[in-house]
Amino acid sequence: MILHSIRFRLQIWHGLILLAVLTGFGAMAHRMAWDDELRAVDRELEQRAAMLFRPMGPRPGPPGERPPGGLMPPPPFARREGQARLIQSIEEASGGPYYFVFFDTDGSVLKSTAQEPIPMPETLAATRAHGPFPAMAGAARTRGTNRESYRVLPFGDMMLVGRSIAPELSEMRAFAFSLAAGGGALLVIGLVGGWVLASRAMRPIGAISATASRIAGGDLSQRIPAAQTEDELADLASVLNSTFERLEESFQRQARFTADASHELRTPVTVMLSQLQMSLARERSAAEYRETLLACQRAAQRMRKLAESLLALTRLEAGEEKIRHDRFELSQVAEESVELVRARADERGVALRCDLDPAECTGDADRVAQVVTNLLDNAIRYTPKGGEVRVATARNGRGAKLIVSDNGEGIPAEALPHVFERFYRADKARAITNGGGAGLGLAICQAIVQAHGGSIGVKSELGQGSEFTVTLPDQ
Ligand code: ADP
Repeated sequence: MILHSIRFRLQIWHGLILLAVLTGFGAMAHRMAWDDELRAVDRELEQRAAMLFRPMGPRPGPPGERPPGGLMPPPPFARREGQARLIQSIEEASGGPYYFVFFDTDGSVLKSTAQEPIPMPETLAATRAHGPFPAMAGAARTRGTNRESYRVLPFGDMMLVGRSIAPELSEMRAFAFSLAAGGGALLVIGLVGGWVLASRAMRPIGAISATASRIAGGDLSQRIPAAQTEDELADLASVLNSTFERLEESFQRQARFTADASHELRTPVTVMLSQLQMSLARERSAAEYRETLLACQRAAQRMRKLAESLLALTRLEAGEEKIRHDRFELSQVAEESVELVRARADERGVALRCDLDPAECTGDADRVAQVVTNLLDNAIRYTPKGGEVRVATARNGRGAKLIVSDNGEGIPAEALPHVFERFYRADKARAITNGGGAGLGLAICQAIVQAHGGSIGVKSELGQGSEFTVTLPDQ
């Protein structure tokens, strides 16, 4: 389980990288220190050798028996004498930590102060073909726990100075140990720090998943606590919180919608049932049966209208309703809608005034006509006798605008933000006595207008009247 956790995997990577970096740095530091150490030993051995050559006399002289190879000018005396002087110098300098080996040109040892036989340096042995040593610059080698510095002398013989580097080696071992200890301590600190940081970074994720599982368990009111989150996770938390919020809202809307819809359906069903029960209770006259059937028909019509409205609304909101994209004249659509409602307006004693300027737009003329008729219907319904309803159309940029206004009852300020919601009625009693619907008319208007990419708004003052404005873009 823990092996699959992000924190554990982060920690493993972090640990491996830290280990690689520390090992790399440690190895480099050890290498540089060892090189420094060897250079110091080499310098010391060279100085030692130089002290041996001092009695060999001043430099330079005429070229000797063989070219010096630019290493050391030939001394002004003969080879044998030079060798004898060097052997003497070696004898005088023997003792102490240093040992000297003097090889003749044929590779035989002329003088050695070492305890054991010292082999010739491999590079020289390989290139020397039965003659004097080849010319070369001063060189050094490590042989076991010894460091040796050697050089070819002017006559082609070879001199080697060496000493044990056991103290340096044990010093380097101690240094390597302290490097490893320091590196190990750093690794532990890094791992502990990394674990603490990773735990802290992961904590909000724990809070997020706990909240999400509580929500999945059915408690939609749960939110991620803001204090638990920091940095980038705060953004994630706020996105998730707003998603949860919308989810909760949508569930609540859905629940409200179902409750409202069943409530609206229950009324006509109740009417039908009570009418039928009453007439079935005893024998009735034909006129009474007819009365009952008419009441049932009205209830059924109301249910059909409700079902149709709900279906239309659902399909519009789901984007399933096909919206045509034709060019049409909005003023003409408005005029036709006015003619459709004129009889009702006359019946209620409400005057209809038109102010229709040409306004071409793109969309579904039938659907837009449905919007205009709905708005006019409402305006007539909520305007008392003697009132006036106005319809105006005009160009609006590249699109069109329609205004339906009345000087009727108006809408209370607290109801204004809700009039486009499904099943919302500002005053239920007023709507029903006025012959209003289930509160779906404006919701359908809004869904149609939004499907056209337009907008619908309302301004109203209680007792003064209302004004609905629809804008349709030129798509
Ligand atoms: P309804 O089917 O009840 O008419 P609507 O969705 O068409 O439903 O309207 C919602 C509510 O908005 C109505 O119940 C009514 O209170 C209010 N309303 C709509 N139009 C007007 C208007 N022109 N004047 C006053 N109130 C209105």
